Formats: sequence, C-alpha cells, structure tokens
Amino acid sequence: MTVHFHEEDLPAGVLAPGPVAVDTETMGLITPRDRLCVVQISDGKGDEHLVRFAAGSDYAAPNLRAVLADPERLKLYHFGRFDIAALKHYLGVVAAPVYCTKIASRLIRTYTDRHGLKELVRELLGQDISKQQQSSDWGNPTLTDAQKDYAASDVRFLHALRTELNKRLEREGRMELAQACFDFLPHRAELDLAGWPEIDIFSHM
Ligand code: MN
Repeated sequence: MTVHFHEEDLPAGVLAPGPVAVDTETMGLITPRDRLCVVQISDGKGDEHLVRFAAGSDYAAPNLRAVLADPERLKLYHFGRFDIAALKHYLGVVAAPVYCTKIASRLIRTYTDRHGLKELVRELLGQDISKQQQSSDWGNPTLTDAQKDYAASDVRFLHALRTELNKRLEREGRMELAQACFDFLPHRAELDLAGWPEIDIFSHM
C-alpha cells in the first residue's frame, strides 16, 4: 500500500485495467471559483495516486484525462456529483461511466440519514478513516503528510464499498434504479455548472 504523489499529470501505465476510484480536492465548494487542486485515483489494487495541480495550471494532464474519459473504465466516487462537475470544469472531460457510493447508500441504507464516507466505511467495512484534513488549504504548494494520507484514504475504500453496496442493492431489488441514478449523475453535474446548482427541476415548486 503506497501513496504516489505526482505533479500536473498521472504517469502513463500506472493503473491496472478496470474500475478506478476517483476523488478531488478543491479550494472550496463553488466549482468555478474554487480551483481544482488534487485528483486522487486508485485501481483498487492497494496503491493510490495523487495528482496535484499548481495555481495557474493549464490542466493539460493528457494521461489523467484519457483515464477519466475512457468509456471502458467505470469511475467510482463518493458524492460524484461534485467531483464530476469539478473534473468537467477544469479538465474538460466527462468522467463517466459512474458509480456513486453515496447514492447507493441512500437507496439501500434507508434506516439512517448518515451517508458520509466515514460512516459508510465504518459500518460496511469496519475500518476507521479520519476526516480531519477535509477542510484544509489544498492550494498550498507543499501538502502535508496528513493531507496526502487523507486524500488517499478518500479513494482507498471505494472498490470494497461498491462490492458491499451492490450485494444490498441486489438483495433489495434496487440495482436498476441505482444504475439509472448513476447514469444521470453527469447530467446532474452539468445542471450544477449550467446554473441550476440548488434547484430541483423535478420538484413541483
Ligand atoms: Mn476527498
């Protein structure tokens, strides 16, 4: 288990074929204002890769873009709506097809309203992750070891979570509905970027 740190792009050929877990760290929650600072990616084999973008980056990142845009590679997120919007806005790619552990959790863990990554990892996998570095300065030219560990832990468990969540989606007959929600997610992210961030266009009001 190693955390690999890269500047401005992923090296070619470092990921095994198949699904990849993806997360982003930004300067804040308003995508056009708060720049993309780090993209984390893992093939689920035990290593995590962090790609850091400097202030003023051109976000060229051809290797990372190719992985994210690859239609043969499923991208696993937790609350992918935010990450997909950030990746579209800064890297110019629709990082799909998509699986979102938060949506799966909402569809299947109807006995709770706690759908955060920390809670999911604790209940489904019996592991503990710290969210202490969540709100920190990701634009800092020198990321701390704590920041790197935190960033890596956000993609470390998504493959295992998907396996567990899929068992429950199958059991309760909600896999098809989940898949329809995952397929819609890039469009939900596009609505966020296009000016409907908080408005539910399905709502009567
Ligand atoms: Mn994160």
